[in-house]
Amino acid sequence: MSSKHQLVTFVSLLETNKPYLVNCVRIPALQSLLLFSRSLDTNGDCSRLVADGWLELQLADTESAVRLLAASLRLRAHWESALDRQLAHQARRRLEDEEEEEEEEAPVNHKEVAALSRELLQFMTSKVSYSLRRLTGLEAQNLYVGPQTITAAPSLPGLFGNSTPSPHPTKGGYAVTDFLTYNCLTSDADLYSDCLRTFWTCPHCGLHMPLTPLERIAHENTCPEAPQGGPPGAEEAAPEPPQKASALQKPYHCEACQKDFLFTPTEILRHRRQHV
Ligand SMILES: [Zn+2]
Ligand SMILES: [Zn+2]
Repeated sequence: MSSKHQLVTFVSLLETNKPYLVNCVRIPALQSLLLFSRSLDTNGDCSRLVADGWLELQLADTESAVRLLAASLRLRAHWESALDRQLAHQARRRLEDEEEEEEEEAPVNHKEVAALSRELLQFMTSKVSYSLRRLTGLEAQNLYVGPQTITAAPSLPGLFGNSTPSPHPTKGGYAVTDFLTYNCLTSDADLYSDCLRTFWTCPHCGLHMPLTPLERIAHENTCPEAPQGGPPGAEEAAPEPPQKASALQKPYHCEACQKDFLFTPTEILRHRRQHV
């Protein structure tokens, strides 16, 4: 267990006779996987995560695991919304044929970019103890619990912001976002660890009762007395409500699968990548 595992990433891909990875830099493993994985799967208390189906992260402490996961969801949503607005803005500019050079207000202002960068930096430097390893082929094959017949939704409102999880059709567990599936990993840990409650006092409203770590965080996120706007700096950083994304959705016809969609710019890119 350590908080200093690193991955190597590359800034560009140089292709000559062979592909070369250029400008390799070391980055903190856990945080980068949380931000950039195309798929993230968790167990019931989020202490075990599998990124992209082959890298396993085991976190020492459930509470910081859930907090970090929630922070990464917030950052990814915010980042994507900023990117969407920027792309939509540029597409509009191209349509307007640049004949009027009047500078309309940038869709993502400097203050927002600065706040997002600050939050990302804070996230990248957060210290959480964990272990990292590559799953064996056999483990990778038996990763998921599979679709469940009893699909009682997890009664943890606010655990992952305001998204409504739906049962995942193949992995089991619950799809929270397009990349995160909660509680779909098989485990040989005992079934009761999720239910272990200890007494806890809410720092905001003074509520005192036995709760699991997940219930604690769910309460904190929905506590009526909690300071609004989530973590410090979030309120100034996120003036755009997330529903704004729907305004950026445009009809999109895919030539490859001959289907019509309503997509934001980043969703179009993501969809196209499936056909590559
Ligand atoms: Zn409270
Ligand atoms: Zn398609």
